[in-house]
Amino acid sequence: MAPEVATRGPDVTPAAVEFIGVAKRFGKNAPNVLDDVSLRIGAGEIVGIIGPSGAGKSTLARLINGLERPTTGQVLVDGRDHGTAREHELNELRTRIGMVFQQFNLFNSRTVAGNVGFALQVAGVAKSRRRARVAELLEFVGIADRAKAWPSALSGGQKQRVGIARALATSPSILIADEATSALDPQTTDDILKLLRRINSDLGTTIVVITHEMDVVREVCGRVAVLADGRLVDHGEVYDVFAHPHSAVTRGLVRHAVAGVPDTDLLDTLRARHRGRLLTVEIRDDSARFDLPALAATHGGSASVIHGGIADLGGRPFGALTYEVTAPDDAIEQIVGESRSAPGVVVHESRSR
Ligand code: ADP
Repeated sequence: MAPEVATRGPDVTPAAVEFIGVAKRFGKNAPNVLDDVSLRIGAGEIVGIIGPSGAGKSTLARLINGLERPTTGQVLVDGRDHGTAREHELNELRTRIGMVFQQFNLFNSRTVAGNVGFALQVAGVAKSRRRARVAELLEFVGIADRAKAWPSALSGGQKQRVGIARALATSPSILIADEATSALDPQTTDDILKLLRRINSDLGTTIVVITHEMDVVREVCGRVAVLADGRLVDHGEVYDVFAHPHSAVTRGLVRHAVAGVPDTDLLDTLRARHRGRLLTVEIRDDSARFDLPALAATHGGSASVIHGGIADLGGRPFGALTYEVTAPDDAIEQIVGESRSAPGVVVHESRSR
């Protein structure tokens, strides 16, 4: 049986978390670690918070769970102001927020069941109810058969399942996964991401995924916010942010996650391998696919893919294909000329220029 369902709220999606003009600094004359951040996270969303190391991601997470308070501005969780909440109110708010960490943070002196049971004890769940609830949670995260094991006997993926079961113990409405898959191998990462998706769909839990891994964003997030030097530089649906990044930081992150227009180093490598003319066609779902091979063929030439790929982003195609075009000299110029005016086509200058 699934754990108790977290509150989803009415049909018009309310905000689970709202940052309003938030600045945070540690110390009076210290620089702002977060600066003028306004961000709304809707209930039931899976949102990615990404950005380079030191951008302020973890500080943002700590503001959500009330471990830190904003220097200026407001942080509202389920509509309630964290900044002005009294300690006992904060404690109550924290039970509605689960945290999962990169290093799992399990008690090595307690068994798997003991770790989850302890979270229930701290939350004030009666002893008579704890055993059944632990069993229910371990079943849900797929680790019921290891209930009596010690953390030291578990794999990284199993440890993270325990961490997630513990975080779900109080039926939080918000789950914060702070680099939760960063210490895991790719297959285990996939398994844990599937579990996060199931938590979101079955329990309605809002999930905030803090990560430096763009693949994670691509896999699970509907929306994404990009932090750079404490400022929110991009925010929106993952597809839109990837397709139309506003900042250089976002463009750099996207380039590592999905195939794009080759940079100069890669172009040099491709040119060393291929003597024909190189063109890149960006693949989006908002423009008709430009059929370069068909165009080349009408001019007696050919175009073959030499680099690139198409990823699935929220069910929509996204990527870029780089072609080598070969044809008689005059035909090449005609193909290039006609391609230049097509949307999403980048013509790379030939090597001799
Ligand atoms: P990220 O999670 O994106 O790597 P952090 O939120 O951990 O970034 O840190 C952002 C900046 O805030 C860093 O420069 C870090 O040194 C600083 N910082 C974080 N927590 C504290 C603290 N408790 N005291 C002083 N500086 C801090």
